[in-house]
Amino acid sequence: MRIHDISLTVTPKLPTWPGDPKVDLERVEKIEDGANANVSRMSIGVHTGTHVDAPFHFLADGTSIETLPLEVLFGAVQVIELGSDVDLITAEVIQSASLIQGVTRVLFKTRNSQYWARGETEFQTGFVGISADGAEFLVKQGIQLVGIDYLSIAPYKQSKPTHQILLRAKIVVLEGVDLSQIKAGVYQLACLPLKLGGSDGAPARTVLIEQ
Ligand SMILES: [Zn+2]
Repeated sequence: MRIHDISLTVTPKLPTWPGDPKVDLERVEKIEDGANANVSRMSIGVHTGTHVDAPFHFLADGTSIETLPLEVLFGAVQVIELGSDVDLITAEVIQSASLIQGVTRVLFKTRNSQYWARGETEFQTGFVGISADGAEFLVKQGIQLVGIDYLSIAPYKQSKPTHQILLRAKIVVLEGVDLSQIKAGVYQLACLPLKLGGSDGAPARTVLIEQ
């Protein structure tokens, strides 16, 4: 068994969504200053790094992160690798990407993963996302969880339609996974967003288990 960590490391260097809070990790008790123990505090947006969106993120009456079903966050997942020429994940792109029959969790590995491999610290606007018709296609396929290798499932400046279609259908949206070291195929996904009461999202340590 091999465990692949596809989580981004949360540090102040991690790019964050324009306008979202920056990552602030600060040690407030220091052993070297005579404290009994080292203690840090953090201040981050809930959509920092590898994270899960709750329906409440884009739906005023949507459910919040602590209520998401763990059954969906854990289980078989297909990693689909798209060519570096794909700029938008449309229904047509997904259709030709050979989703395995019966698969309910899918992660898209796109050219976005090169940003993580290169260690980009600036926010990128030209990332690959899923179009509204791509989102509708996933709903029709009975997908329960979809993930992508940049900070939003939707293309830049077109956040709303894709998010609303997916979240209304109760599809769990996983964003900011680093798939640069992952080959296409089927894995076991384990994704555990922090249990933040009433939150529209939460950072999630996420791994792929290869058997
Ligand atoms: Zn998000």
